Amino acid sequence: MRKPLIAGNWKMNKTVAQATELVEGLLAGVGQPQDREVLVCPPFTALHAVGWLIKGSPIMLGAQNLYPRDSGAYTGEVSARMLLEAGCSHVIIGHSERRGYFGESDEFANQKVKATLGAGLKVILCVGESRQQREAGQAERIVTDQVRRCLADLIAEDMAEVVIAYEPIWAIGTALTARPEDAEEMHACIRSLLGELFSEQVAEAMRILYGGSVKPGNIDDLMVQPDIDGALVGGASLEAQSFLRIIHFEWITIG
Ligand code: PEP
Repeated sequence: MRKPLIAGNWKMNKTVAQATELVEGLLAGVGQPQDREVLVCPPFTALHAVGWLIKGSPIMLGAQNLYPRDSGAYTGEVSARMLLEAGCSHVIIGHSERRGYFGESDEFANQKVKATLGAGLKVILCVGESRQQREAGQAERIVTDQVRRCLADLIAEDMAEVVIAYEPIWAIGTALTARPEDAEEMHACIRSLLGELFSEQVAEAMRILYGGSVKPGNIDDLMVQPDIDGALVGGASLEAQSFLRIIHFEWITIG
């Protein structure tokens, strides 16, 4: 049984004061969930403050990016070790905004995956197709190529520390969510590829999150799908009540 993970990607939002207010709201309502995991990924500047506030709570801390070198003349960048010291357990890698605005490739994402795992952090690897690619019938090929390239040279044991997030680009920040059945189809396809690349057992154990306009109103329907193991949430994670509703999604089982 895979334990669902609900992760909030705050992107370039929240000053330290605003982050503190949001986290206090989350701590007031998160409870002690045993059957799901909760992660927040603030901007770098708020990591320490948030890490301090959530110490001893069920909320985990993640970063939105890193640079795949230990240290050195890389102005503006942050290493895995720095994130570990700030209290992070996870790093988001390959987000479509990094790919789109900063030209990051699958090969660079692969270097980041290796640096993250090398430092003892867990990876949330984002993959997803554009609207044009979906309309051209290329979605599965694009996504499976991304998974293959971003996980190149890794071994089955590494996969215990990797979570995949399927995030169709056309659904991010647009209010257009993939239909749960369409998301399920892609998640099943990714799982089958993970089976080929590593083993059936590894694929069955790995979590595949859905991301793209997840809201309080659609989380329950998404979580019904057998291969959707949680959500990576952008906009709706910026307000405590909406993120809490997503964290406390209803378990509805089919049949
Ligand atoms: C994201 O940034 O990963 C995301 C899914 O954003 P949103 O929920 O706002 O679509």
